[in-house]
Amino acid sequence: MSQIHEECGVFGVFSKEPTDVASMTYYGLFALQHRGQESCGIAVNDDGIFRSYREAGLVNDAFTPEIMQRLGTGNMAVGHCRYGTTGNNPRTNAQPIIIKHIKGSMALAHNGNLTNSYELRTDLELQGSIFRTTSDTEVIPHVIIKERVHCGSIEQAVNKAMYKLKGAYSLVISSPSKLIAVRDENGFRPLCYGQTPDGVYVVASESCALDAVGAKLIRSIRPGEILVFDKNGVRSITDHSDKAPEKFCIFEYIYFSRPDSVIDGTSVHEARVRAGACLAMEHPVKADLVIGVPDSGLDAAIGYSRMSGIPYGIGFIKNKYIGRTFINPGQESRMNKVRIKLNPIRPVLEGKRVVVVDDSIVRGTTSAWIVKMLREAGAKEVHMMVSAPPFLNPCYYGVDIDDRKHLIAVQHTTEEIAEIIGADSVGYLSLEGLKKLAPECHAESYCSACFDGNYPTEVPKTQLKNKFEQKISESQEDDNDE
Ligand code: SF4
Repeated sequence: MSQIHEECGVFGVFSKEPTDVASMTYYGLFALQHRGQESCGIAVNDDGIFRSYREAGLVNDAFTPEIMQRLGTGNMAVGHCRYGTTGNNPRTNAQPIIIKHIKGSMALAHNGNLTNSYELRTDLELQGSIFRTTSDTEVIPHVIIKERVHCGSIEQAVNKAMYKLKGAYSLVISSPSKLIAVRDENGFRPLCYGQTPDGVYVVASESCALDAVGAKLIRSIRPGEILVFDKNGVRSITDHSDKAPEKFCIFEYIYFSRPDSVIDGTSVHEARVRAGACLAMEHPVKADLVIGVPDSGLDAAIGYSRMSGIPYGIGFIKNKYIGRTFINPGQESRMNKVRIKLNPIRPVLEGKRVVVVDDSIVRGTTSAWIVKMLREAGAKEVHMMVSAPPFLNPCYYGVDIDDRKHLIAVQHTTEEIAEIIGADSVGYLSLEGLKKLAPECHAESYCSACFDGNYPTEVPKTQLKNKFEQKISESQEDDNDE
């Protein structure tokens, strides 16, 4: 039950004939809701006319039947659900971003975080560009459109813009006549595409969203690849492929993605089971029962149980009708929410030596509550096993990891952490174990910088989020002065 904040989910539809692309996007976003719950939006492209709606909150709250009817049918749609990693106002920063420019209109949805957005934005502002949001995403259409003025097509403009954009970006873009899917050169964030039986192309952050709309997964979009969908079919542009080492975010397998998704050929469920099995080999414990912390600890707990031979059980019931703990970031509310969200099953736990598997320990407050609840429910021993290595560093690629000073593993040894959270023992997956999660890929194909500090790209000197917020507060001060 991680307190790590997720990034975003993107979704796109291309159909040769006008169809209910808005509904498809609604159901696609609903399947991607776990990737971002702060805001959501859909843009429908009806023969070059864009209709859109963006709102704070969850997909099924934001989109009423009236709004869906207003969005209507079209040939293309772009959808987005967001957890704000950069920029601070959920409604203003909601995506897709729609812009009108000299050659037409464009809708764009972004998952990831640019590492040079502050520099790009400052440069654009000095040339007279005006920005509406505090999100790093807004620089992307600006950079593309500057190129578009000199290019014969939108895909050429995107191709040129990629030389300027640094960091993590999986994009879905609709121009008047094309749907474009783009993955950055390192392939930090997932992006895949598929097709429905009636020939409609669908692009999504995760394959679970393709399943939701009846589309069959074709494949992941490759790092650095641009895919163009238009009336002539699908075309791949690979000028940026193999320009940089593939560095897929390993935490997508551990926590972010849904277990029923397949990413770059690896089942997320199977990756988590492998993590649990590896954990059992690295940290054997004498115990009577293995349980997982719902939801992302469950698959790894199955792996731990299988490898250790200790029976697997359901130790917690999760109240599914409450938002994730991080929605209210206050320390006090987070602690209360753990109890509201999870309830231990006493008859399962009473008198048992329990191994509890979770995906991470961030500050330790949630883990301390979990251990406390298990002991109150009668557990004789509690061993906290974590299906990832300790968090030691910030992420610059779209994941909102706490400041180093709040990360418990930066300040304390594993033994001290066990004492702080009240567990009999704590075990983390090793960095070596991490590499075995997705054997379909090479071990070098992962980003694991938040665990080992090996950033695959140049990183900003300070957190972008702070820089943007500082920029906003400076501009507010300017307003007050006038
Ligand atoms: Fe993922 Fe961590 Fe790399 Fe960020 S730093 S992209 S969370 S592995």
